[in-house]
Amino acid sequence: MSDITLGIIGSGQLGSLLCQAAKKLNVKTVVISDDEQGPAQNYSNEFIHSKYDDESKIKEFIDKVDIVTFEFENIPVDILNKIDLEKKVLPKPGINKIIQNRKLEKTFINDLGIKTTDWAFIEQAGDIGKNKNLLPGILKSNTLGYDGHGQFVLNSLDDIKKDWCFTADYILEKRVSLKKEISVVITRYLNGETYIYEPIENVHKDQILNHSKIPADINKEIFTKAQNNAKIISEKLDYVGTMCVEYFIDQGDNLLVNEIAPRVHNSGHLTINAFNISQFENHIRAVCGFKKEEVKKIANAEMRNILGSEIQDYRKRTFNSNEYFFDYEKKIIKEKRKMGHFTILKR
Ligand code: ADP
Ligand code: MG
Repeated sequence: MSDITLGIIGSGQLGSLLCQAAKKLNVKTVVISDDEQGPAQNYSNEFIHSKYDDESKIKEFIDKVDIVTFEFENIPVDILNKIDLEKKVLPKPGINKIIQNRKLEKTFINDLGIKTTDWAFIEQAGDIGKNKNLLPGILKSNTLGYDGHGQFVLNSLDDIKKDWCFTADYILEKRVSLKKEISVVITRYLNGETYIYEPIENVHKDQILNHSKIPADINKEIFTKAQNNAKIISEKLDYVGTMCVEYFIDQGDNLLVNEIAPRVHNSGHLTINAFNISQFENHIRAVCGFKKEEVKKIANAEMRNILGSEIQDYRKRTFNSNEYFFDYEKKIIKEKRKMGHFTILKR
């Protein structure tokens, strides 16, 4: 029996799935979000609608909870730090500071001796010309990117538009000729023990995750290295909770870290049905200071994201016993918006 109340910042699908996992563990949840219609309020014990810099609402949130976690990494770090002075925030806010910033994130990974794509920091158009070796490449905003937002493909210097004013910082990444993308979801507990899920194979369409499956079709060496890198990264960050490392595998079978997500991850949704303990339950267990439980795989699986109006067909369908439909119950259907997901277990 637990009498913990967990605060969750953010009210999207990840928040919803965290609340459902918390309920199973008898952990109460208070969700705070700037989205008045955020679906996680359907699953939390309490919901506070607030801007993230509204001090009185944040205070109300802090007073109601014992521990705080979050469903997305782009919360201003000074706000997380302020909350952390009164109630412990896990994973630690210092981790977000690194991961919110692609330059700091890649430097951190490279300093561990782990490979990423080749990249350079870009402050003005002229910096691109100095890094022609990275073309064809992708210009990515240094902060606040998700699902391909803030990314521009540069095949050559001719693609630099005259009216680009570079008011923000960017990084330029060499475009990798992808053989495959995989991710590793890992949970690290307060006592430093870890559980590492097997690598998940991911297919993106228009920079948005389309589907994921286990087992990933990769060799043993890449399997082991992908898990080991994730362990090294989590240890170096002194991470508590569930995180994900996204990887590229290039045509030469080089394993490159794409990025780290300091939170539960879309590619890990199949763990809800394919394992006895999901990435969400493991996250709640870890941040609440519970001990590690044995994790067992139940079946191979494939998960498909349901985007935009595709949800309408799913809402009318019937399902087999090995099929699991998750409707995020978002009020407004927008094209390319993640509206739900669908998992099939395979024996
Ligand atoms: P986000 O922060 O929006 O998730 P990512 O950097 O993970 O952005 O990019 C989203 C997807 O775009 C990747 O999963 C991959 O499919 C593609 N992509 C991004 N960068 C590269 C690259 N350097 N080479 C090849 N494909 C890339
Ligand atoms: Mg990504």
